[in-house]
Amino acid sequence: MDLSIVVPVYNEEENIPLLYQAITTAVAPLGLEWEVLLVDDGSKDGSLKALEALAGKDAEHVRIIALRRNFGQTAAIAAGIDHASGDVVVLMDADLQNDPADIPRMLEKIAEGYDVVSGWRKDRKDDFATRTLPSRLANGLISAVTGVHLHDYGCTLKAYRREVLTGFKLYGEMHRFIPVYASSVGARIIELPVRHHPRRFGKAKYGLERTAKVILDLFTVKFLSSYANKPIYLFGGTGIGLMTLSGIGLLYLFIRRVFFGVSVLGSPLFQMSTMIFILGFQSILMGLIAELLVRTYHESQGKPTYTIRKLVNLSPNGHSQDD
Ligand code: UDP
Ligand code: MG
Repeated sequence: MDLSIVVPVYNEEENIPLLYQAITTAVAPLGLEWEVLLVDDGSKDGSLKALEALAGKDAEHVRIIALRRNFGQTAAIAAGIDHASGDVVVLMDADLQNDPADIPRMLEKIAEGYDVVSGWRKDRKDDFATRTLPSRLANGLISAVTGVHLHDYGCTLKAYRREVLTGFKLYGEMHRFIPVYASSVGARIIELPVRHHPRRFGKAKYGLERTAKVILDLFTVKFLSSYANKPIYLFGGTGIGLMTLSGIGLLYLFIRRVFFGVSVLGSPLFQMSTMIFILGFQSILMGLIAELLVRTYHESQGKPTYTIRKLVNLSPNGHSQDD
C-alpha cells in the first residue's frame, strides 16, 4: 500500500459524500495503491450510515473504523494511524475545510525525501477573533518552545512517512504536536501552503477553550521531546539552580553576621534560603526517580534510545548481511 488517508469524522453526514468525491478525484489519477480510513468518532447523526454506504460502493479503497463513543479528534486520528497500512499517511479533516487536491503536491515533497509535509493554511477561512488569532498566538508559542518552526500546527492536513509515526502514543489534543515528536526522532520536515475553505455543512466542534488545552499539552510535549531520556537534566538543573540561589542568600547572611554583627534570624532571608535549599534538594531527588521511570519505560518495552534512518550492509537485527 502506497498511501493511507486518515480522516476523523464526528457529525459530518453532509460532508462525507463530497469528501469521498474530492479525495477520489485527487488521488485516483496518481495510479497509486491507496486507501482512505474514515474513523467515526461516535457520531450522533447519520455519519456512520453514510460511511457504510461508501464502503459498500468502493470496498477497494474505503475502510471504516467506528469507535464506540466520542473519544475526540486525537483518539480518532490515532485509531486511523494504527490501522493504516500505507507507506505514507496523510491526515485531514472531514469537513472539507482541507482540500484533498493538495495531496499530490504533498506526496511530491515526500518523494523528494522529506519525512513530514506540514500543511499551512496561509489564507485561513475561520472566525478571526475566536479561531485564527488564538491559533496564531499558540503557533508562535509552540514554535518558540519546541524549536520546531512551523506556521500552522493546527492544520490537520499533513503527510507523514510511516516510520516517523511509530514509537509514540497520542493523548489529549496532541495530534497537532506530531511534527514535534517526528522532529525529535530526526524527521526532515517541510511546510507547504495549502488551500482552506469555509465550513459549508455541519458545525465546528471547538471554541476558544481549546487554546488552554493546547498550551497545557505543550508543557508535556516539550518535556517529553527534550527530557524524556534525561529527566535529571531538567530536575537536577532546577535543583542546582535553587541550591545555588539559597547558597548565595546564606553566604550574604553569614558575611553580614560575621563582619557587621547583624543577627541572622532578624530577616526572613534565612527561612527563605533554607526553604529554597530544601526545594532544590527535593527537585534533584525527583529527577532521580524520573530517571528510574525512564529506565523502566525503555527497558520493559525494549525501546532503543535512538532512531535509525538507514542501514548499509547491515540487517535490522545487527548482523552483517552475509552471515
Ligand atoms: N472531530 C472528531 N471528534 C471530535 C471533534 C471533531 O473526530 O470530537 C473531527 C471533525 O469531524 C473534523 C475534524 O475532527 O473532521 C476537525 O473538527 P472541526 O472542523 O470541528 O475543527 P476545526 O477545523 O474547527 O479545527
Ligand atoms: Mg474544520
